[in-house]
Amino acid sequence: METAYLAALGIIGLLGLSTLGATLRQAGPYGRHMTAGQTGTMPARAAWLLFESPQWFAFALTFWLVAPPEAGPSSVMLFLFGLWQAHYFYRGLIYPLRMRDRHKSFPIVAVCFGFVFNLCNGFANAYAVGHAAHLMDTAWLGDPRFIVGLAVAAFGWVVNFQADNILLSLRGDGFTGYRIPHGGAFRWVSSANYFGEIVFWWGWAIMSWTPAGLVFALFSMANLMPRAVAHHRWYRTRFPDYPKNRRAVIPHLL
Ligand code: NDP
Repeated sequence: METAYLAALGIIGLLGLSTLGATLRQAGPYGRHMTAGQTGTMPARAAWLLFESPQWFAFALTFWLVAPPEAGPSSVMLFLFGLWQAHYFYRGLIYPLRMRDRHKSFPIVAVCFGFVFNLCNGFANAYAVGHAAHLMDTAWLGDPRFIVGLAVAAFGWVVNFQADNILLSLRGDGFTGYRIPHGGAFRWVSSANYFGEIVFWWGWAIMSWTPAGLVFALFSMANLMPRAVAHHRWYRTRFPDYPKNRRAVIPHLL
């Protein structure tokens, strides 16, 4: 099983590099970056439900059945299991169901890519959490890495959740186009949701202190930062009154 774990880490790393290369050339073709008349698509809500699902089922199956912790899960492992499942209950179920525009479509090739990536990532993170010696000991709950990581993750999650809500509210009146988002971390960046997401996964990487957590945090940056830069450029061309002091994704930096 250790071999499968290392293979999953390798696949995630390769997918991260290929995503970075592709998104630096052209933002992933979903949402505002889809081309008119694009074929090979499916309803966006069903797409999100489908491609995010392995994050919770692969994690849960690995943690409890495929490669469970040898001495049974410790309280630290159970906490991390609960945190992961809670996040993906939100991202994989609540978030798609809250999407406003039910007629949006999503490329099937991106669904396939996301499904495979999420399968590897859910497995790798569950295996890592269930087999890390430092997570067997409840003393980890008092370790500075756990405390700092938890604080970072909580901050990132709140920023991401607030940004998701602001974006969803922009179409609360049935409008289907795009408006300039305001409030929360949108004061500083065009993609406050991606900023929060990246911070959250760095928090997870620090608090779990596993190679899988680190690789996922790096993947999230490779995936979301070029896309945030593309969003930022798109806003600036589309809205002449777009706030000039806003950066793309990292306040004051990028
Ligand atoms: P986007 O910011 O591209 O879009 C989010 C939603 O808000 C979409 O429904 C979009 O509609 C709508 N929206 C965005 N901007 C505006 C606007 N200016 N006016 C009106 N509506 C707007 O985010 P993603 O769809 O890429 O991601 C959604 C969530 O998933 C985010 O929280 C993100 O962090 C997370 N995610 C995490 C990843 C990871 O690697 N960990 C990978 C991808 C996403 P439309 O679709 O029509 O553009």
